[in-house]
Amino acid sequence: MKIVLLGGPGAGKGTQAQRLVAEFGVAHISTGDLLRAAVKAGTPLGKQAKSYMDKGQLVPDSLVVDLVKERLQEEDAQRGFILDGFPRNTAQAVTLDSELNTMGIKLDAAILIDVHPDVIVKRLSSRRTCKKCGYTGGADMEVCPRCSGEMYQRDDDKPETIQHRLAVYQSQTAPLVEHYKGHRILKTVNGEQSQDKVYQDIKDLLNL
Ligand code: AMP
Repeated sequence: MKIVLLGGPGAGKGTQAQRLVAEFGVAHISTGDLLRAAVKAGTPLGKQAKSYMDKGQLVPDSLVVDLVKERLQEEDAQRGFILDGFPRNTAQAVTLDSELNTMGIKLDAAILIDVHPDVIVKRLSSRRTCKKCGYTGGADMEVCPRCSGEMYQRDDDKPETIQHRLAVYQSQTAPLVEHYKGHRILKTVNGEQSQDKVYQDIKDLLNL
């Protein structure tokens, strides 16, 4: 399985990726998670990325591309991978195409988890994320059901940032739908269904 998950913030990319990883043992490559880990660890990359992330802006491509290239070389990624949150604009998609080409790898699919912007705003405002493992749940969840970590509201899930992230998605990331249509690997699932149904639809699309 070598796939890209597309969809707005809060569409359910992380949740579905975690389920696929648990069932099929492939690598979950989430640039958002990698960047948050770098911010938490206070690395030079994290320090540079933080101000963009807090504002809901995209971190410069140069900071993100190397992270992904390195991650793709790791052992678990040789069994397959799910790219979540990358690529985020056309330049990143073109870089990814050429990197995968060099590695002799072909993507099986780019799956768009389609969710209306109004639903995204509602979901993100009440989203809580586990500090330890990244699990996401609703506003009523104080303790992570998976690892007992503390649940918190990401800075960029606050109302003032959500609208900006959506605008960034529409202008920079949504055009990737056409990019992958052009490659004839775009598949779309309705992301407004239950998590279980979305998961089943994704597996059906991948013939799993
Ligand atoms: P996410 O967890 O995917 O919603 O990402 C959170 C934030 O990390 C985004 O709002 C961006 O600031 C940054 N980020 C994540 N992935 C990328 C990427 N591929 N390119 C640029 N910035 C990114």
